[in-house]
Amino acid sequence: MAHVERHQWDVVVIGAGGAGLRAAIEAREQGLRTAVICKSLFGKAHTVMAEGGIAASMGNVNEGDNWKVHFRDTMRGGKFLNQWRMAELHAREAPERVWELETWGALFDRTGDGRISQRNFGGHEYPRLAHVGDRTGLELIRTLQQKVVSLQQEDHKETGDYEARIKVFQECTVTRILKDGDRVSGAFCYERESGRFFVIEAPAVVLATGGIGKSFKVTSNSWEYTGDGHALALLAGASLINMEFVQFHPTGMVWPPSVKGILVTESVRGDGGVLRNSEGKRFMFDYVPDVFKEKYAETEQEADGWYEDPDNHRRPPELLPRDEVARAINAEVKAGRGSPHGGVFLDVSTRMSPETIRRRLPSMHHQFRELADVDITAEPMEVGPTCHYVMGGVDVDSDTAAARGVPGLFAAGEVAGGMHGSNRLGGNSLSDLLVFGRRAGLHAAEYARACGERRPRPGDDQIDEAATEALRPFGTEESADAPENPYTLHQELQQSMNDLVGIIRREEEMSEALERLARLRERAGHIAVEGHRQFNPGWHLALDLRNMLLVSECVARAALNRTESRGGHTRDDYPEMDRQWRRVNLVCTLNRTTEHGGDRISLRRREMPPLRKDLLELFEKEELIKYLTDEELTSE
Ligand code: FAD
Repeated sequence: MAHVERHQWDVVVIGAGGAGLRAAIEAREQGLRTAVICKSLFGKAHTVMAEGGIAASMGNVNEGDNWKVHFRDTMRGGKFLNQWRMAELHAREAPERVWELETWGALFDRTGDGRISQRNFGGHEYPRLAHVGDRTGLELIRTLQQKVVSLQQEDHKETGDYEARIKVFQECTVTRILKDGDRVSGAFCYERESGRFFVIEAPAVVLATGGIGKSFKVTSNSWEYTGDGHALALLAGASLINMEFVQFHPTGMVWPPSVKGILVTESVRGDGGVLRNSEGKRFMFDYVPDVFKEKYAETEQEADGWYEDPDNHRRPPELLPRDEVARAINAEVKAGRGSPHGGVFLDVSTRMSPETIRRRLPSMHHQFRELADVDITAEPMEVGPTCHYVMGGVDVDSDTAAARGVPGLFAAGEVAGGMHGSNRLGGNSLSDLLVFGRRAGLHAAEYARACGERRPRPGDDQIDEAATEALRPFGTEESADAPENPYTLHQELQQSMNDLVGIIRREEEMSEALERLARLRERAGHIAVEGHRQFNPGWHLALDLRNMLLVSECVARAALNRTESRGGHTRDDYPEMDRQWRRVNLVCTLNRTTEHGGDRISLRRREMPPLRKDLLELFEKEELIKYLTDEELTSE
């Protein structure tokens, strides 16, 4: 086998979005030598696209807010399926993480009296999202990037080398986590431009690779979201939980076709945007589920009053959690009351002056003008659901972000599961990235330090295997006969996931999806790409397909198994939420079986740990009855 260069670091962070950068900063601040590796250019991660804001109960706009209210909202949004300890840590620590960002140079929009401004978002009881217009993710990444550079400058002063303690390997892809026995020992990577392989040896690896949206046809996600971290974790022996829960954001662009799926931020509704059908009806009033009835307005007048006087009015139903709004839009379109291009109308033009719209929603104004020739200061937008976020992810310890069962592996951000339960509230991702990114970096550093002299080392045979696997798309005996094109397979995968495991699910369709996925996996073994390893997008996609096929199978298997509707998982054949299912996490693992000719995803049920008593006491008994079983309620 050809020589593969090896680099030695203490901690390697895969991903340079919000979670990855926060983890890397922490590990470096703990004094550990930290490598960051990312597929795109440094600063270009998906986090940059985040628009609306970051949720933290700072109470700047309504002082009724505090971590307990944020915790309650998060649990309600996730329909009580959240790993409650994660939701607790997140709610408690988010404000500190936002203030810390400010000390590192982030410039948030301000309130009249100069504090960080906070805006309304679906499912949040109080205005809670700190924001920078509708470009919050950009500011978050800019700030974290700047912090990395300042740490590098400190290191340069001390050692003469900017990259002595923190180095970014940009435009590089990791295809395998390497192990030494049970323990993680590093990552196998290639440079996207040259195709050159290299290995980063490290006792601790943090996965911060984001989501899986590119497995679906209509998505708000960027090209990087091919479920790599989810698949790398599975292949390394870790488990994924909650994979049936995929969030379809209610408002993506629907027209023109080339931009279908691009996000229309929830801030549009948070700032007063209303949804109407083709008959001009503000239809969300018809879709308030029983569990939320007490909190939401019943008339337009009451809803409109809330914007000026939230203490004496209930919230507009446009601000229900995303899963509810997405289902409502889907139902309106299906009933023939959709807009001309298969969505519904979202209007801010009647609620705010053109100047305010341009100031508060500059990206939306620009996006619609440039891409759809629509002036949102004067006319409504057409919007419809788009695959946006995966609640499911790596099964981690809530406090340390350590992946269960694989010593040395950690996960944070969208790739980690549990925090958001069955449905994430808007704004809770950016805060999740910072809270658990920091925790992952901290515990990865502690773990790496504790390894001391007993550092694991990847063996040559594993590296050879990883290299052979990565080169397979250039042709094998099987692919010589009937070569498959990665782009064709990708399109078929996206169409299948969209049509058969999408926003509304049925048993027969999901079974069919699993059959199609099995055939696609078989065909993926025959992929043949042309050209060389030098920047070759077809080859990159062929490698990404392994990951998308694995995570798609997890989504379809778990969705078929969960016979209820909850949060981001809606079953036409089981439309009700079932309290027995709230106690269950579905856990996916990858089993090596030579018998059946390859790897198989297996699924098992795991019981949720009971909610701690003091946290349960934050809810009224009447509310808990909707979620908890009688047995749980009596054992309190
Ligand atoms: P990312 O930021 O995506 O970073 C992933 C990193 O991993 C990238 O650097 C990528 O290159 C790297 N990577 C992936 N695979 C590999 C590999 N194999 N090898 C090497 N590197 C790899 N959330 C909010 O809370 N508020 C919002 O207002 C908001 N707005 C949003 C708007 C849009 C349009 C979208 C799409 C999402 C929005 N979200 C929002 C969600 C939020 O942006 C994401 O959940 C979050 O940014 C994910 O961050 P991350 O650090 O986990 O991953």
